[in-house]
Amino acid sequence: MAVWHGDKELVHRRLAALREGAISPHHDPWDPYTTVGLSSKPLLTSIEVTVTNTCNLRCEHCAVGDVLTYVEERLISLDQLLARIDEVDTLVTFSVTGGEPTATPKLVDEVTRPLLQYAKARGLRTQINTNLTMPLERYESIAEWVDVIHISYNYPEPSEFARIAYAYADHVPQDPERLLRRMDANIRALAEAGCFVSAETILTHATLPRIHEIHARIAELGCRRHEIHPLYPSDFAARMRLASLEELAAGVRRLLEHRDPNVWILFGTFPFFACSPDPEHRELWRYVISQPNTTIRNDPDGRNRLNVSSLTGDVLVADFASLGPIGNITRESFGAIWDRWLSSELARRYHCHCPAARCLGPNLLVVESYYQDVDWQAREALVSA
Ligand code: SF4
Repeated sequence: MAVWHGDKELVHRRLAALREGAISPHHDPWDPYTTVGLSSKPLLTSIEVTVTNTCNLRCEHCAVGDVLTYVEERLISLDQLLARIDEVDTLVTFSVTGGEPTATPKLVDEVTRPLLQYAKARGLRTQINTNLTMPLERYESIAEWVDVIHISYNYPEPSEFARIAYAYADHVPQDPERLLRRMDANIRALAEAGCFVSAETILTHATLPRIHEIHARIAELGCRRHEIHPLYPSDFAARMRLASLEELAAGVRRLLEHRDPNVWILFGTFPFFACSPDPEHRELWRYVISQPNTTIRNDPDGRNRLNVSSLTGDVLVADFASLGPIGNITRESFGAIWDRWLSSELARRYHCHCPAARCLGPNLLVVESYYQDVDWQAREALVSA
């Protein structure tokens, strides 16, 4: 699959070092920049498995909300999936997502835990994307094989959880704040047990004015990292009003002014670039990367990562890709799908690279939301990292 620049052994030693390094602001193994230059084309170093489309919540910002179900059928076996993942010898990281990957004990026992155990046995860095509202024992039963417990946290107060988490639910429970209390207790318990809990906040008109309060809450609960993204306008979230770039910039500045210095702030799908013709955008980009304990992650989706459904075998560029499947592992390998994706017109259009800014270009949804007319191949970083 890969076209090696030099000694294949050397490349594999480099990939092994990436797996072994401690996760920190200085080493984020999910960032596709970590393998730039190892091969003449981007390496597939990350696979994200959607283990279920069931979930106990129906959040207003859910980027996969339209595919959520209450019952589901498995059309491929775990063995079929693992055989395909086995073929990818360049993997560094591995994630499980949903839906809610701990939705039932059966799902944890039969799919989620076996996948995480497989990934850890290969020495991969692992992440679970979860709403953390299930009983604590479910998370304790997988914690040993998880490097990053990734959660959503958009709640300055319990009433906001009740409003957001049941936005598209058929029934709202009598005590709609109960699951936030459980989530908070789970964060504390897992953080105290040494787990790396990373909380993501989506920047919306609801969270932007109170982003510093949300950050303080996340820090107080014991999360080690706060991940910040603009809204992904997909599925349920596509019905929300997008914040403007000016509103996002103001929120980013307010957060950094009031942040806890001990919490790593990771900006993902960051919509401001070193090549921007707007000097304020360039200045914001420089300001962010100059802050201690703060990083901008290059977008993994389609740059070093593919998403696969463990239910159907469909492969997507991102778990919420509006593109639809770009292949299926019952018919071909991840390598074949990856090569086809990299040579597609769409990938070529927004896969740019400026070494001076250590930047690999914008996220596809950011392009569609804010920069539809930009020719990224004609741009170049105007400030450096
Ligand atoms: S890599 Fe692309 S998005 Fe990043 S600074 Fe260069 S031209 Fe801009």
